[in-house]
Amino acid sequence: MTDLSGRVALVTGGTRGIGLATARALVEAGATVVLTGRDEARAKEAAASVGASGLALDVTDAKAVSTVVRGVAKEHGKLDIVVANAGIMEDALLGMIKEELVDTTLSTNVAGTLHTVQAAARAMLRKKTGSIVVLASIVGEHGSAGQTVYAASKAAVANIARSAAKELGRSGIRVNAVAPGVIETDLTAGLSEDAKAENAGKTPLGRLGRAEEVANAIRFLVSDEASFITGQVLGVDGGLVL
Ligand code: NDP
Repeated sequence: MTDLSGRVALVTGGTRGIGLATARALVEAGATVVLTGRDEARAKEAAASVGASGLALDVTDAKAVSTVVRGVAKEHGKLDIVVANAGIMEDALLGMIKEELVDTTLSTNVAGTLHTVQAAARAMLRKKTGSIVVLASIVGEHGSAGQTVYAASKAAVANIARSAAKELGRSGIRVNAVAPGVIETDLTAGLSEDAKAENAGKTPLGRLGRAEEVANAIRFLVSDEASFITGQVLGVDGGLVL
């Protein structure tokens, strides 16, 4: 079992799905975990369910991200692990894409991730150590009809990881991404049973993924077991892209 005792971790978008599973996995490995969500009560309730603490944070607000990240680092004396997980997905065919969808998707997935990585780097640079994981997607790596905006946002997220890894490596900070396939969470709950069956059928492992399976990959990447891994985009997709 990965040992993260003594580590302080922050997980954005931790109220459900992959974020909540990640918070649980980090707590189980011994880390002190703070998770965030847009609604304070929801964040605190989710946090209590996994032995973490919860804070309100909308990642589209750069100032709020900076304040929360600095606050966590100050309260615990350091910040070792940040998982920039908060994200949204809304489908639209090219001809149907509205400006509002572009704005919300890019401000949450791209700017939100960027704000989080930037604030994390600032907090970690002082100690010259730390590990950051961002949530990309197979859609960002390979594209998907009806998901052009989401795909663009997730391609950007993968390149935030690669670029930040290049910039921060000499300061002892590793930055990686995970690129999940189709994982059964609220995000994919709107998929029809046919679409789920089709995706499972195309997956060599013959099924969709579970949030815990992505969380396990994240826990590995943030741990010392991944000490020579940075700038990578790790597929957690059951082989769907093969
Ligand atoms: P969910 O929809 O289950 O959870 C999304 C989380 O993000 C919630 O905790 C939500 O919190 C939070 N969130 C959304 N917008 C904001 C915001 N503006 N500020 C702060 N928090 C926000 O999604 P998943 O767990 O499925 O996905 C997690 C990440 O993984 C996302 O980045 C997603 O794109 C990515 N991913 C998921 C895949 C999947 O198949 N599920 C596949 C590939 C990538 P709240 O609503 O409480 O504020």
